Amino acid sequence: MSVWAILVAAGRGERLGLDQPKAFARLGDEPLLAEPLRRLDDSDWVDAIVLVAPPGWEEPSILLAEELGCGKANACVAGGETRSDSVRAGLAEIPADALVVLVHDAARPLVSEDVIERVLAPLSEGWDGAVPGLPVSDTLKRVGGDGAVLETLERDGVFAVQTPQAFLADVLRRAIGGGAEATDCAGLVQAAGGRVRVVEGDPRLLKVTTADDLAKIAAWL
Ligand code: C5P
Repeated sequence: MSVWAILVAAGRGERLGLDQPKAFARLGDEPLLAEPLRRLDDSDWVDAIVLVAPPGWEEPSILLAEELGCGKANACVAGGETRSDSVRAGLAEIPADALVVLVHDAARPLVSEDVIERVLAPLSEGWDGAVPGLPVSDTLKRVGGDGAVLETLERDGVFAVQTPQAFLADVLRRAIGGGAEATDCAGLVQAAGGRVRVVEGDPRLLKVTTADDLAKIAAWL
């Protein structure tokens, strides 16, 4: 099966407070984007990669892929206003005969071969998609704008979902067409009637949101 990865890196990352996009924040000695790009390129499961860069940062992104010797980086396109727009831009670069699309957040640098294997496996067992998830251990509450607790949510069976997320390519294309919006692709596929399975996630797939997250991930490198 041919597996194409879309690496979405077009987020602004405002909470990092930098004057460049999150994908170019420093992680150790490199831009954040370098780590997930190299890991996907090194993966035995991934055949080709489409890089979705922050608008205006396509050239530095291509240069980075070249510097790292990422031979699987096939295309680089500018991302859109929302994450779903960015995934759509990436998907447009993927040939019609691709069987599987793996969508990964560049903001989760420590993608591993094990988690890629875990999300791909259910696709050969009749599932339309699979995502890594970790059971939530804290109590969940919905809170109003003034800080008042509005309700306590049922925690049983609730998972925090990560990326990489794997889908049959035609299922993802159908789900994401027509301007659909969600904070992850699994949300779109499931809303379109697709069957998505949760597999074991990885605490190291922490998403970089704040400078503290960057420091934590740098320590794990
Ligand atoms: O917005 P959030 O932090 O959840 O973003 C998750 C991933 O989606 C990040 O890797 C970010 O770069 C990417 N993204 C994107 N285009 C956007 C918004 C987010 O590629 N417009």
